[in-house]
Amino acid sequence: MTSELNWPFFDEEHRAFVAGLARWLAEIDVLDDERNADASSRAWVRALAAGGWLRACVPGVYGGLRAGLDVRTLCLARETLAYRSALADFAFAMQGLGSGAVSLFGSSELQRRYLPMVANGRCVPAFALSEREAGSDVSALATRARRDGESYVIDGEKTWISNAGIADLYVVFARTADTGVHGLTAFAVDAARGRDRCRSARASALHGESRLHPRLRSLSREAAAAL
Ligand SMILES: Cc1cc2nc3c(=O)[nH]c(=O)nc-3n(C[C@H](O)[C@H](O)[C@H](O)COP(=O)(O)OP(=O)(O)OC[C@H]3O[C@@H](n4cnc5c(N)ncnc54)[C@H](O)[C@@H]3O)c2cc1C
Repeated sequence: MTSELNWPFFDEEHRAFVAGLARWLAEIDVLDDERNADASSRAWVRALAAGGWLRACVPGVYGGLRAGLDVRTLCLARETLAYRSALADFAFAMQGLGSGAVSLFGSSELQRRYLPMVANGRCVPAFALSEREAGSDVSALATRARRDGESYVIDGEKTWISNAGIADLYVVFARTADTGVHGLTAFAVDAARGRDRCRSARASALHGESRLHPRLRSLSREAAAAL
């Protein structure tokens, strides 16, 4: 065990978590081939779920380790996983990053629908924010979401989207008003019917019914058919 784990901002649960994860990693055999990154990422998600480690990525009420998301646990998990495999770290990080907006700002219905599946590995999420001209400067984001009756049409192009093509849930950031960074909204887009568009990392014209939430607007069960 490394000495920084004795620092006062780590507790007994952190120390036990790292020791358990390191032991598990020493014994587990997972496909880990960077030339076959999609299959390897899926394999790591399945293995991490079976080991119970993805529970660190969701709040306790949805099967998580602790009541809320614990950033120190997430950092320790990533450090320990990355020491063994970049893909293991990647797969773990994306389960948390891709579902983070749902954990923090999603409606309880969205949380109930997706977060248990994030923890048990049945849902692979993606975080679709970056665009060619909008990376660090999120306020430059140009993808638009236009209300169309009860639905939203999301129109734009994303780039650099980790898990694009293998994700089950895309949290897509789009502009709903011309008020800079305050005019952005996150949409939960179920990939079941939008997969082809998302495969090329384009959040282009995803379409679905929507219900409003102050911070996150969710598409309904029938939603997200690619036009
Ligand atoms: C492997 C990988 C995976 C990724 N996965 C995802 C993903 O899943 N989802 C997603 O949405 N995005 C993802 N990205 C995109 C990533 O988040 C962006 O690359 C990042 O936000 C930086 O944006 P940019 O590339 O446009 O760089 P820029 O914003 O153009 O920045 C270029 C450089 O300028 C610096 N800089 C920028 N603004 C300022 C400033 N105001 N003052 C001083 N310096 C500044 C930056 O620090 C950087 O060094 C991924 C990127 C990589 C490389």
